[in-house]
Amino acid sequence: MINYFRKTALITGGAGFIGSHLCDRLINDGYSVLCVDNYFTGSRDSIAHLLESDHFETLRHDITFPLYVEVDEIWNLACPASPIHYQRDPVQTTKVSIMGAINMLGLAKRLGCKIFQASTSEVYGDPEVHPQVESYTGNVNPIGPRSCYDEGKRCAETLFFDYKRKHNLEIRVARIFNTYGPRMHPADGRVVSNFIIQALKNEPITLYGDGMQTRSFCYIDDLVDGFIKLMNNDEGFQGPLNLGNPGEFTVRELAETIVELTNSKSDLVRRPLPEDDPQKRRPDISLAREKIGWEPKIPLEEGLKKTIVYFEELVRQGCERCS
Ligand code: NAD
Ligand code: UDP
Ligand code: UDP
Repeated sequence: MINYFRKTALITGGAGFIGSHLCDRLINDGYSVLCVDNYFTGSRDSIAHLLESDHFETLRHDITFPLYVEVDEIWNLACPASPIHYQRDPVQTTKVSIMGAINMLGLAKRLGCKIFQASTSEVYGDPEVHPQVESYTGNVNPIGPRSCYDEGKRCAETLFFDYKRKHNLEIRVARIFNTYGPRMHPADGRVVSNFIIQALKNEPITLYGDGMQTRSFCYIDDLVDGFIKLMNNDEGFQGPLNLGNPGEFTVRELAETIVELTNSKSDLVRRPLPEDDPQKRRPDISLAREKIGWEPKIPLEEGLKKTIVYFEELVRQGCERCS
């Protein structure tokens, strides 16, 4: 039965990897969800299970254009997130980061509602401070192949804080570190999905560079918990706030773990390191512990096992995008 007293949450990028999990969680928590997506990297498959719900609605729309709807809160996630995808049309990546943010902030201003921004650890660039704390202002190349994303997301943060200062908007800004889990796009080239698919198919595992660069991997359910706690925190803490798992692994260690968990026969092979690839990345999450009482609970191996189950099924179905 339709409950007219449910709050409505707008999720831009709701058909993407993180967005689809957030749709699930908010519907479960008693919201109605309006999912806005132009399907640039998202997929209707990710939200197919929600289409029968009375509390779920989708709208195909590109947020670089204005959007007039009535909602109670906004989650702004729309933006391609993997290097392959955000570099495919870099001007569009900058546009969605900046013009998309302006439109969603304009919408929040008109409605007087709270707005959440999915920012990123990429605002720190190739960091000289390790682990990364929120007060670190970053080491970002403004003209490299990653700049469309890094600088786009940095400017979006600027806009969020200027709307807060100028228009007293209630904002939340999360800096998300590498997140993984079921519904990751099989062809977006991210390290966890690449390695799992390669391992399951007993194909060579592609280490870029010497594989000694590090990343910290957060399981999707932990991240979504962090989103909810940040959005709803009682003290009105607005961020920016690091959300990620502080466990740090080399890319080589990740490959070896995945080979072991999948009983794969794959060898590790070396490929050139992409330009401006950060050498190390690990969130300092002291502020998240203090301000919203959050820390991730799911260790890497446990999260990888759940993700492997998802990709096993995709590979078994002969998913075209898995080659
Ligand atoms: P994703 O590519 O799976 O999802 C992004 C979604 O945005 C897709 O559904 C895509 O179709 C949609 N989209 C893109 N451009 C749009 C536009 N102009 N209008 C409407 N929709 C549009 O990526 P994800 O991993 O789910 O990332 C979601 C958000 O989280 C992004 O903003 C990303 O920058 C941020 N983030 C993700 C990670 C991560 O590890 N996954 C890390 C840091 C930040
Ligand atoms: N906007 C929107 N939906 C709304 C209100 C505004 O998409 O409900 C867009 C509008 O196109 C505008 C942008 O948000 O360009 C910024 O709005 P704001 O009110 O901050 O700025 P202004 O309209 O004064 O330029
Ligand atoms: N990487 C790799 N092999 C792959 C894909 C990625 O060695 O097949 C490396 C990549 O160079 C980077 C790390 O894994 O150092 C994480 O890459 P990803 O694209 O997942 O995310 P990001 O670089 O944005 O953190």
